[in-house]
Amino acid sequence: MSHLFYQTSQRRPLLDQARGVYMWDVDGKRYLDGSSGAMVCNIGHSNPNVLDAMRRQMEKSTFGYRLHFETEASEQLAARTAALCPEGMNKVFFVSGGSEAVESAIKLARQHALAIGQAGRWRVISRSPSYHGCTLGALAVTGYTPLTDPFAPMMREMPKIPAPRAYLDGLDPTDPATGAHYAAMLETEILAQGPGSVLAFIVEPIGGASTGALVPPVGYMQAVQEICRRYGVLLILDEVMTGAGRTGRFLGLEHWNLSPDIVVLSKGFAAGYVPLGAIAARDDLVGAVLEGGGFLHGFTYAGNPLACAAGGAVIDEIARLDLVQNAAVMGAALRHRLDALMTRHPIIGDVRGQGLLLAFELMADPVTKAPLPSALNAHQRLVDIAYEMGLIVYSRRTRDGVEGDHIMVCPPLIVTEAHLDEIADTLDAALTRLA
Ligand code: PLP
Repeated sequence: MSHLFYQTSQRRPLLDQARGVYMWDVDGKRYLDGSSGAMVCNIGHSNPNVLDAMRRQMEKSTFGYRLHFETEASEQLAARTAALCPEGMNKVFFVSGGSEAVESAIKLARQHALAIGQAGRWRVISRSPSYHGCTLGALAVTGYTPLTDPFAPMMREMPKIPAPRAYLDGLDPTDPATGAHYAAMLETEILAQGPGSVLAFIVEPIGGASTGALVPPVGYMQAVQEICRRYGVLLILDEVMTGAGRTGRFLGLEHWNLSPDIVVLSKGFAAGYVPLGAIAARDDLVGAVLEGGGFLHGFTYAGNPLACAAGGAVIDEIARLDLVQNAAVMGAALRHRLDALMTRHPIIGDVRGQGLLLAFELMADPVTKAPLPSALNAHQRLVDIAYEMGLIVYSRRTRDGVEGDHIMVCPPLIVTEAHLDEIADTLDAALTRLA
């Protein structure tokens, strides 16, 4: 009997070891980590250089409370993070995960509004579907009713606009009119809410699990940035999943040269070695908050030296192994294999993504894009079959009309062509068994 509990009563085998892209359970069964956990382990498991950096830090100190000490590890990681962000975003605040980082971004935005005399701004617009975390603030901006409904009475309702799912709406994502069409929904919502009440728009540059690696239509991201600017609404880019090289650029925003106000990082940022998240924000924004009395927010483990040492070593390894470029090259090669699977398995209705943030969607009809009934639980069945065959892929709980049956195929950025063959062959066999 286990005393542990997570979301469901489903139990998984005990993990014994993990190296590179592979994991072994205590019975010696090997799994290829085809989703990097939950799109976390970007540099693969048990990287010796990261372990060394962590060991060196542990021998120096494992904890220094931020009100008592700065640490070299946190100073250095902050400087390196700022250098990887757009010009003028030189202020970095550390936390221990993605939800904490989203909470921090929202609260920083709110305090900024107060500091500049715009106390009426509090609404944070986000998209549906979307996922920004499970704590109550992050959940309030999450557009996914199966997760939010039970807690609705405990949260302030935040406005949502539709995610730009052009493939479902029969629109061409390469047509600039499509991007403009979805971006206009943001402007309409800002006007409906009253521009003076809108604090921020939070968005993933490329969608994560909730939309199944949704790449926005041409012009969309630039247009939403422009709309935010026009109405004095802060642009928060949630790069928890897209950051740290996953999409073939270090940050997703680089695909469009965006200049957000706040960037949110976690997952691949410390690649699963330790819990770590961060927000990077514009200097003037943080300056106003600090001059206005300080940021009324902070977690005990913030800036933990061990976490920051691991984060710094992860950035080193991403650079040393050229993993951003490998994500772009291997991402294109994996995409090619997923497209080939779609021609063989009519249950696959769409393949999408960027770099190694890739997904395919199971559908009842690939032509009309009709979804499968959620009662079939097809995505989970496929995940379970693949797991039994030694391949880990990731999907999310679906509900009719809210989300589709997406399977995220997002291996560590260290993958080779041989790993991609193993992933594609196993998925091929698993899809055949599912049919
Ligand atoms: N934001 C995005 C885009 C995510 O994908 C996630 C997690 O999946 C989160 C925030 C929340 O991160 P965490 O689970 O580390 O709290």
